[in-house]
Amino acid sequence: MALKTKEQYQESIRNRKPMDVWFLGEKVDDVTTFPPLAASFAAISKVYELTGDPGWKDMLTTTSHLTGETVSIYNAPLQSAEQANNKTRAARALAEVIGCCTHRCTGSEGFAGLGPCTYDMDHDLGTNYFERFTKFMEYVQSNDYSCTVTVTDVKGLRTLPPNKQPDRDMYVHIDEYRKDGIVISGYKANQTGILFAHEVIIVPTTAMKPEDKDFAVACAIPADAPGITYVLGRTPQDKRFFEVNEDIEGIDLGKMYADHQALAYFDHVFVPNERVFLCGETEYVGRLLNYFTAVHRLTAGGCKAGGCSALAGATSLISDMIGVNKAGHIKEKLSEMAMTAETCYGLSLAAGTEGFKHPSGFWIPNPLLAHTTKFTCTSAPFNAVRTAREIIAGTGETACSELDMRNPTIGKMVQKAFNPGNPAYDAFDRLRATRFVEHMVRGSNWTAMALHGGGNSEAARMMAGRFTDWKHLQDMVKVATGIEKDPIFCKDVLDSIGRRAGRIDTTLDLPTMSDVPVESKKVVFEKRELVGSGKK
Ligand SMILES: Cc1cc2nc3c(=O)[nH]c(=O)nc-3n(C[C@H](O)[C@H](O)[C@H](O)COP(=O)(O)OP(=O)(O)OC[C@H]3O[C@@H](n4cnc5c(N)ncnc54)[C@H](O)[C@@H]3O)c2cc1C
Repeated sequence: MALKTKEQYQESIRNRKPMDVWFLGEKVDDVTTFPPLAASFAAISKVYELTGDPGWKDMLTTTSHLTGETVSIYNAPLQSAEQANNKTRAARALAEVIGCCTHRCTGSEGFAGLGPCTYDMDHDLGTNYFERFTKFMEYVQSNDYSCTVTVTDVKGLRTLPPNKQPDRDMYVHIDEYRKDGIVISGYKANQTGILFAHEVIIVPTTAMKPEDKDFAVACAIPADAPGITYVLGRTPQDKRFFEVNEDIEGIDLGKMYADHQALAYFDHVFVPNERVFLCGETEYVGRLLNYFTAVHRLTAGGCKAGGCSALAGATSLISDMIGVNKAGHIKEKLSEMAMTAETCYGLSLAAGTEGFKHPSGFWIPNPLLAHTTKFTCTSAPFNAVRTAREIIAGTGETACSELDMRNPTIGKMVQKAFNPGNPAYDAFDRLRATRFVEHMVRGSNWTAMALHGGGNSEAARMMAGRFTDWKHLQDMVKVATGIEKDPIFCKDVLDSIGRRAGRIDTTLDLPTMSDVPVESKKVVFEKRELVGSGKK
């Protein structure tokens, strides 16, 4: 079976082995019926449902290059610019429906990093990681599994590399090398959608030096493997999940879909060899992360575009309800919100279009554009957030609860106060739209996702700086101003103008990323040295 229906997906999640999941100091018996996770389970279920919907199938499925079967785009690493652009469109479209993480994107991005990197390692080192990876892909595709990538280690003191941390658990690491596999331990933080995944794909969070060998590990583990403890993160809405009942529809939750983040602790978890894709090859970790982030940071532009569009829609609706929609400054601000969405979207499309084909057959988006996309997503949506909060009025920020609006004693009085005055809408409609905005801007982790998910602004800025060809930029000016007079040099520079904005020459069918691991190590270690050094 290549594609699961929503019901089959839900059944497969219910059939997982019991998992050790905690929230608010108590053990969660069943994640599929636990109120604080209901919106998250609904979100990923919706993604499965739409994947089978004829209207969405073109966008959410593709043909497997391994089996020729129709598979989810989230289980098929990119093969072309067209597929990269489709990934952007899917991320945007799904964000407009669910207004949160798809829960399935990150796994596909883990595969996008592992495919070319294992190929490179086998080519250079004679390992058989690419074969293992390919078999694992077939397994995931044939079961239509939901996979999540776990990158972020808790890291401890940021000035110390993994091997210098007083507690090795600060980074996931190999405890034991066995003939049949490895045993790993350590923490991963902020894991989106992990409680509804079938497979957890572990990759390192930072480039590494040879001394970090035990921390250089990439592998796949079933989410219900023994030895994993999960602790669900809080959101400001925690209490509201428990309020929903037959009389209370859950308006205060803002919408019926959400994602979740959890801390995962791996306590001596065994991983058989066939699920290990990198094991101690520190010099390839930077390359893996470069391939991975090129796709991961492209996707950020798609889903933030979708979120910004939804936010613009809700704000526009409220401006209609309360009668300020015709005011000049409101129209301008709404247009700016719409343009924010298009900026994120356009950058993401450009990163996919201007990528290059790796010899493994996978398509790598343009890294400079992908990091620029992510960098833009760490700030632009916050202007949209500010505008939304301004337009929904202070009452939008301080609105009374659905519980109060439905209360037999004070309900009518509260409803009257919140009635927008527009006969097309009542107080409950206004509360629905208002809570939607609240959910996006401060009730959920949507803004945290824009800021940190897939890496924060500094990580994106440093990578963008690395992928910019500064010598070329200087040469252009030397030619333009006559500093450089050698006609051959000048011709070379002129011939390459417009095609060398980044270090990747996209006119070639081969990667020019052979220096990437070195570059990426520099990025990370220079970043470390910056801490407390007073240097800029
Ligand atoms: C809502 C949400 C969802 C997420 N989902 C996932 C997920 O599904 N999977 C996953 O793996 N991760 C996920 N993440 C984690 C995310 O990728 C990380 O939070 C992000 O990469 C930043 O890492 P960090 O939180 O450790 O912060 P840090 O990287 O430690 O950053 C904290 C601050 O310190 C600065 N800093 C850090 N190190 C240095 C240094 N050496 N020198 C100078 N300054 C430094 C940074 O610039 C930043 O300002 C998610 C995060 C959020 C908020």
